[in-house]
Amino acid sequence: MSRVWVLGHGQLGAMLQHAAMPLNVDVVPVDIDSAQLPDLQPEDVVTAEREQWPQTPVTEKLATHPNFVNLDVFARLADRYTQKQLLDQLGLATAPWRLLDDNLSAAEIHAALGERALLKRRTGGYDGRGQLWLKQAESTAIPDDWRNLAIVEQGINFDEEMAIVGVRDRSGNKYFYPLTLTLQLNGVLTASVAPLQRLKKLQRKAELMLGTLLDELDYVGVLAMECFRVGDELIVNELAPRVHNTAHWTQAGASVSQFESHVRAVAGIPLAKPQVKGLNVMINLLGTPYDERWWAISGAEPYWYGKEVRPGRKVGHITFTHSGDKRLIQGLDELKELLPPRYEEVIDWVEAAVEGDSAE
Ligand code: ATP
Ligand code: MG
Repeated sequence: MSRVWVLGHGQLGAMLQHAAMPLNVDVVPVDIDSAQLPDLQPEDVVTAEREQWPQTPVTEKLATHPNFVNLDVFARLADRYTQKQLLDQLGLATAPWRLLDDNLSAAEIHAALGERALLKRRTGGYDGRGQLWLKQAESTAIPDDWRNLAIVEQGINFDEEMAIVGVRDRSGNKYFYPLTLTLQLNGVLTASVAPLQRLKKLQRKAELMLGTLLDELDYVGVLAMECFRVGDELIVNELAPRVHNTAHWTQAGASVSQFESHVRAVAGIPLAKPQVKGLNVMINLLGTPYDERWWAISGAEPYWYGKEVRPGRKVGHITFTHSGDKRLIQGLDELKELLPPRYEEVIDWVEAAVEGDSAE
């Protein structure tokens, strides 16, 4: 039995572990603050469920193992500055940007990037944290403590947001999941839908872009690319060198989930092209208390992370894999009754995406 250590012990590590069981791979998520060091063997493999980590005895031990897959990629992508440089170098469309150095003034930013610009911390930001809008009309000041620690990018008036996840093995074989339409509220992924007929025409473009990145990085495993759609163009928002929330639906809706694909790739097990089973919908449970009634909804596949519930925290998700539009909508309507009122707009958004697509 081969062993894969995961740096980090959140829900992504747990879902990797879950997916690996039938593969006869022992995936072991590791608490980076643990006092006990992992008992690494030379033939073991190391991966991570997070982009960045502080130096602790545990992370130091994991990061010095020769089989830490994609080790250099993490630092390169975890810093938005080097990530943006990579996108530019490969000619992949991304929001125009500048490094917020000591000298860049708000006037220069607006002259170069337009009246709406977004400051983003170079590292550590997630779920919309570490971002600050700089609006010309409001003469927003640049905080001093962001200089050299942030980039600034053009505010994009996108039509919608989507993401694609792909996997690559050591020989360079690549497979992709369908583009996934995503709903971000307050910077947090709240729902996703895939695949949509109307996005099929963008699939090849997205695969070429992500494929270029996977090959350039000589990447092994799953990489996620978040995009803005502007007309028929895709603009890369950001990259994540790991399994990704926008593809959680693949647990229910694909023959090989993103978690299984990642484990296969890093453990050296042959990849297979994921077969998608139907139209899939995923709703993130954000700070929502556990409710046993979810399990009784026809077609619903809840996944609970077992974490303490705190406001806004990702504590689980519920996936539906379509087997006839009507039943999917019925299940979503039932779920709407059981979730807090703030989910009404989320479920309406999902239902509109599903119904709009089948109407086409
Ligand atoms: P994640 O949790 O996905 O890592 P994040 O907090 O690191 O997110 P981004 O994905 O870069 O940050 O931004 C969060 C959201 O903010 C995006 O999904 C999008 O809705 C909005 N956003 C980001 N960049 C821009 C931009 N240049 N123009 C307009 N909106 C943007
Ligand atoms: Mg994002």
